[in-house]
Amino acid sequence: MVEIVQKEAEVLHKKAEEVPLSDIGTPKLRKIIADMSKALASQSDGVAIAAPQINVPLRIFVVSGSVFSVLRDEELPKKLADGKDKIPPAKDLVFINPVITRLSREKIWMEEGCLSVRWQYGLVERSKKAKVKAFNEHGVPFEMGGSGILAEIFQHETDHLDGVLFIEKATDLQEIPPEEHDDHIPRNKHNG
Ligand code: ZN
Repeated sequence: MVEIVQKEAEVLHKKAEEVPLSDIGTPKLRKIIADMSKALASQSDGVAIAAPQINVPLRIFVVSGSVFSVLRDEELPKKLADGKDKIPPAKDLVFINPVITRLSREKIWMEEGCLSVRWQYGLVERSKKAKVKAFNEHGVPFEMGGSGILAEIFQHETDHLDGVLFIEKATDLQEIPPEEHDDHIPRNKHNG
């Protein structure tokens, strides 16, 4: 069990350090990434996690494969979608030293939650589209654009790496304890 630290933790309020590129692929860094995926998988409503959330002050975030599975399945033609259980779930995606390279001027209000701010939810104004460049767990640079939930995740997670929590930007904050959650968390509740 990997502990997810909560909002009082000092590590969540500090700027995280760049990962030295020579550390990528080392057992130490692989363990950190595996721990992040483990912590994320332990939360049924989690979509992404940043390293400071497991008390590691490094610039890394991981996006759950479930996000990509949902996005992928939405794109599938109906016939294929019917058999989508046969398609393996997408893998978690690792972003090391991520930098946002583009934010759309168009913004939308997203309802957000955070694995480190249980159990508050609020509305945050985010760019509708975002592009991020990073290194993957093998040290290969890549760039990825996204809109909607993915764009919001990029912004929420890079905020974590800069020591910023969504509650510092949100309006209409409300506490929704787990016993009031539906079994099926609506997709507009994003916990990163
Ligand atoms: Zn968060």
